[in-house]
Amino acid sequence: MPDSRPISAAPFGPPASADLAVFEVTLAPEGPTFRAGPDESLLDAALRQGVPLPYGCRNGACGACRGRILAGRVHLTEGTGLRGLTEREIRAGWTLLCQARASSDVRIAARADGPGAGVRTLPARVASRTRLAHDVMELRLQLPPTERLQYRAGQYVDILLRDDRRRAFSLANCPADDAFLTLHVRRVPGGAFSGRVFEEIEERALLRLQGPLGNFHLRTESDFPVVFLAGGTGFAPIKAIIENALLAPLRREMHLYWGVRSERDLYLPDLPREWARTRPRLHFVPVLSEPGPDWSGRTGLVHEAVLADFPDLSGYEVYASGPPPMVTAARELFPDHGLDLERLFFDSFDYAYETGHDG
Ligand SMILES: Cc1cc2nc3c(=O)[nH]c(=O)nc-3n(C[C@H](O)[C@H](O)[C@H](O)COP(=O)(O)OP(=O)(O)OC[C@H]3O[C@@H](n4cnc5c(N)ncnc54)[C@H](O)[C@@H]3O)c2cc1C
Repeated sequence: MPDSRPISAAPFGPPASADLAVFEVTLAPEGPTFRAGPDESLLDAALRQGVPLPYGCRNGACGACRGRILAGRVHLTEGTGLRGLTEREIRAGWTLLCQARASSDVRIAARADGPGAGVRTLPARVASRTRLAHDVMELRLQLPPTERLQYRAGQYVDILLRDDRRRAFSLANCPADDAFLTLHVRRVPGGAFSGRVFEEIEERALLRLQGPLGNFHLRTESDFPVVFLAGGTGFAPIKAIIENALLAPLRREMHLYWGVRSERDLYLPDLPREWARTRPRLHFVPVLSEPGPDWSGRTGLVHEAVLADFPDLSGYEVYASGPPPMVTAARELFPDHGLDLERLFFDSFDYAYETGHDG
């Protein structure tokens, strides 16, 4: 992706003079306020002062720390960029808080609802390994007997590998059912971790993980009907979210679109079909991009199926998770169909960042 640093977008500007070295940053609508110098990212400043902003890669790629500038100016330093934003988001005044630095007092639409001090590093034993499809393995992990991971349905963990490398995997089970942590691991050719999962790791093997991470969770304060857009193992966090939502009677209509290549890639097909059969407000549409001759359901790209069924998304909330091209397509195209960018939440399954989270 090109370096999409804005040249003329109004909220951006050069750093102010040194006598205004510390600026006030206010998060809207609920606060809090914190201080930031011109040489530190807004995310670093917030975390340093105990403000739990959500974040992922911390290098401008994943978009997890995006926020919209409502007032004031920010700048980027040489060599940084906003790869994790679309051109449309940049034009609409969004920035990445891991990259942006304050040039004045700023007001930013962002919520301090990241994992904060709740992130923990824990050992986990492989309790079982179950092949769900030709290239998807379910791993059930067990924490030490005295430990439980408190997380929100939709969040992910990093599996910690040697040499400070880490791999992100969404938690596929809902927090109410937390005796085991369940991952859906898709095999990536040459994948350092997924290769081991398929070939090497045995039951009782010991892993290390860090979490919970990310800000992909159902906004329960909202009444908007929901469209879930899942691609491949992007079903994992959405499964956790839906299972969690189904613990209570559903107040909102929920439409799950799950896109995969062929029927064999729908690795748990009966589960969403059963949800849809037993819950009148839950609808399930599987979409195949490379269907076989026996498939009579929807075909094509999953985001296009959503747009065909919902040409006007203005009254909806959308949650997208899975391959980066699918998530990017939703971020670029859905606003043309009335979706408010503030009601689009996503986990883009980007490849591993070979940098650590050090905060
Ligand atoms: C927030 C988040 C949540 C995620 N949740 C899940 C999940 O629940 N299930 C899941 O299966 N994946 C998930 N991913 C994606 C997963 O973290 C990456 O695919 C990871 O790189 C796989 O690790 P690996 O060690 O097997 O492969 P790596 O050693 O990282 O990759 C080996 C090679 O394959 C390429 N590669 C890596 N991933 C892909 C890919 N997806 N498609 C094409 N090429 C690739 C890399 O560029 C590299 O060259 C998630 C990613 C993020 C950011």
